[in-house]
Amino acid sequence: MTGTPMTSRELKPIPQLDLKAQFAAIEAEVRAALEEVLASQQFILGPQGAALEQEIARLCGARFGVGVASGTDALLLSLRACGVGPGNEVIAPAFTFIATIGAATALGARPAFVDIDPATYNLDPRQLRTKITAKTKAILVVHLYGLPADMDAILEIARGKNVRVIEDSAQAIGAKYKGRTAGSMGDLGCVSFYPTKNLGAYGDGGMIVTNSEELAARLRLQRHHGQTGGYVSTEQGWNSRLDEIQAAVLRVKLRYLEEWQEARQRHAAEYSRLLGAIPGVVIPTAPAGLTHVYHQYTIRVPRRDHVQKFLATRKIGSTVYYPVPLHLQPVYASLGYNRGDFPAAERAAEEVLSLPMYAELRTDQIERVAGAITEALGH
Ligand SMILES: *Cc1c(COP(=O)(O)O)cnc(C)c1O
Repeated sequence: MTGTPMTSRELKPIPQLDLKAQFAAIEAEVRAALEEVLASQQFILGPQGAALEQEIARLCGARFGVGVASGTDALLLSLRACGVGPGNEVIAPAFTFIATIGAATALGARPAFVDIDPATYNLDPRQLRTKITAKTKAILVVHLYGLPADMDAILEIARGKNVRVIEDSAQAIGAKYKGRTAGSMGDLGCVSFYPTKNLGAYGDGGMIVTNSEELAARLRLQRHHGQTGGYVSTEQGWNSRLDEIQAAVLRVKLRYLEEWQEARQRHAAEYSRLLGAIPGVVIPTAPAGLTHVYHQYTIRVPRRDHVQKFLATRKIGSTVYYPVPLHLQPVYASLGYNRGDFPAAERAAEEVLSLPMYAELRTDQIERVAGAITEALGH
């Protein structure tokens, strides 16, 4: 790197995510949308949520959208609608956010983990077939960091077996897989509107998308106490709705999503151009026909913890998603998994580092991050 390095006191922080920059750009529109909801005094199951359901379904290339209280609830209600409960097994990748499988274990199902493909960080279909047993009710497929998993191979293995495929699309809204869209390929797709996601609310929120009219109808009942109307419940339900305030915010943001996704992709290309030249650094790639929406731009790097600490001294934010694979999580100790069971997941947990990524990120900031990584590795 050329020039005189600034002392860390003069450096402006580069956070891993900068939501304030996004808010500054859309504040007037968001406030107007919120005013509308406040004036209506309608907060649950109103016109904003209904409109958003249609908009998100269209975005995902699915027929129906069902708004719920969070991405975790989207997963839990989806699994429940597929009949998952005690005595069942649910397959999931060993390397993902805990919520993916937590939704299944909260219903009393037993997790069956599968290792990941180290090139994509997604469930490795080559290891899937032997995991399906007579007890398997569902496969949870995660599109980690914003890259779709190998759905053709997964759906092929699931075909003809009595197993549902549920996509955890929390990180991959709008990502494409060979002309189809994440969330619309399995039986059900689960979206999260957690504030830090690519389409984030100002609180919790989620949605299930599906092409099945029957599943959509069940989910609408289940998120609303199983009520068919007039305070009559025909089945066991729950309270899990996306509220009007969140829906209104999301509808404003949705107008910008494509622009933001393209900006993320440009930033990723710039990162990869700079980081791909550094020995030892492994940059993310997308297989042919797939588009990555870069919820995270995640590299593998030698001496990861050292690099992360070094970045912090340069006021650069970074995060390890995720430091502990699911089979080694203390909460699942009783399942009897051991270190060494899923080597690709374990290795990823030791090597990955997610760098600053958001639409408003600037090229000079990306250059500073790449320069700091070069310096940290002593090149
Ligand atoms: C965020 C996330 C969830 C959970 O979504 P919430 O809206 O926070 O409940 C589930 N799975 C993955 C992969 C996620 O990233």
